[in-house]
Amino acid sequence: MIDEESKSKDCREMKPFIFLLPLFMISSQGFGKRPNILFIFSDDHAYQAISAYGSNRNKTPNLDRIANEGMRFDRAFVTNSICAPSRAVVLTGKHSHLNGQLTNMETFDGSQQTFPKLLQKAGYQTALFGKWHLKSSPTGFDFWEVLRGQGPYYNPLFITPKGNKNISGYTTDIITDRTLDWLKNERNSEQPFFLCSWHKAPHRNWLPAPKYMKKYDDQDIPEPETLRDDYRNRLSPASSQTMTIDKHMRDDWDFKLTTPKGFNNEQKRIWEAVYEPKNKAFREAKLKGDDLLKWKYQRYAKDYLRCIDSVDENIGRLLHYLDKSGLAENTIVIYSSDQGWYLGEHGWYDKRWMYEESFRTPLMIRWPGTIRPGSVNMNLVQNLDYAQTFLDICGTDQPMDMQGRSLLPLLKGETPDDWRESIYYQYYEFPGYHNVRRHYGVRNHRYKLIHFYMIDGWELYDLEKDPQELNSVYGEPAYAKITEELKKELSRLRKEYKVPQDTRPLPNKIRKLF
Ligand code: CA
Repeated sequence: MIDEESKSKDCREMKPFIFLLPLFMISSQGFGKRPNILFIFSDDHAYQAISAYGSNRNKTPNLDRIANEGMRFDRAFVTNSICAPSRAVVLTGKHSHLNGQLTNMETFDGSQQTFPKLLQKAGYQTALFGKWHLKSSPTGFDFWEVLRGQGPYYNPLFITPKGNKNISGYTTDIITDRTLDWLKNERNSEQPFFLCSWHKAPHRNWLPAPKYMKKYDDQDIPEPETLRDDYRNRLSPASSQTMTIDKHMRDDWDFKLTTPKGFNNEQKRIWEAVYEPKNKAFREAKLKGDDLLKWKYQRYAKDYLRCIDSVDENIGRLLHYLDKSGLAENTIVIYSSDQGWYLGEHGWYDKRWMYEESFRTPLMIRWPGTIRPGSVNMNLVQNLDYAQTFLDICGTDQPMDMQGRSLLPLLKGETPDDWRESIYYQYYEFPGYHNVRRHYGVRNHRYKLIHFYMIDGWELYDLEKDPQELNSVYGEPAYAKITEELKKELSRLRKEYKVPQDTRPLPNKIRKLF
């Protein structure tokens, strides 16, 4: 709901200044104003766990509201499906090989060009609350309070320019509290704002808030069709990974068969009252084989979805405040995740692959008066595009060395004739957690060609006939022509994006595997 009274009051206040001041000097509250942007970003949120994307596992009414009142992107992808690299791509508008954040191991070079710095120069007030995960301190933000590293689900420590501070409570709620405090009490209302509310949730190890600990107890979460994938008809990397729910999740860390660390006494008491009986029942059942896998999936999926419930609830709080304050009308709300996630598809948890569930990411944008409510966009877009989109929306020049493309025309419902028909992907973190081999590839609207370059092996998927990517058709005569075309397109993209050969050596122990 738009607050009509405050809207007309703002217009009256601003009228005398309209012809006297350049556009950028006009208050964010006034007529002719530049929009504010609220960028809500979560960590590892599977689009399969958002009801606006058709989830059969949960309901997310507040996230759905962003889609229903704005635009849902159904072909939004990342360039490198892992936490820190994705954040670096978002900040710089450049692929990993140019921004230097190939894996989670490097420290982000905060001295380089990023969109928040450019927005500051353009007169925007910039603020960031929540997960950062880039090791170096944030740059380009007038205000920031970030979790240390991955951050915990309970009682987080925040790093701030004024020193560290501990806050008791549930991290998803606290990040929203701080976002709201800033909006209400700390920002300069004479400037438009770019505000980041970046969540730790639903990153591993999925500790729910007390109010959601029992949710889903009386129901089974539907299993994905590929939970029991046998990895046939693909190259060796799909089977040599170590990220299956069945074999690689830990009893303590993932399934929480012992009480997790980090609670205060009261939180521990609440946790044990809810989880001890569940754990006792599990121990007594002595499950084996497929029954054990079923239990593991349910325990994992339910805790994951409970963490999403808190994210959704807190998005509701933010939307409510925007409505109540009259800010909603001129504030763009963006929801995305640093990448997608396997909620049991292929038997997996985690991300990293160019296969759809981790390559794709949720992206929903609400912009009253510009985006037609309930629109669905099917163009190929990437997190590489976010920086230029923000700059374009805010009326600022896009540097020539950024590698994405502004989504602004798409938000207005117009697809430029020369919009891209293919996208590039590269994953680098091997050796690393979960043993996912380095690979790069190209995807267009129908096909995906992946090169596992350490073994010089190729996979090709026909996504129309095989949307679950269970059968690589690389080498089949019927696909010879399309394979040749895709290889040419892959070379063209690597040249356009200036991708060097990945010559980083492997440790001797690992090299023997290849
Ligand atoms: Ca992540």
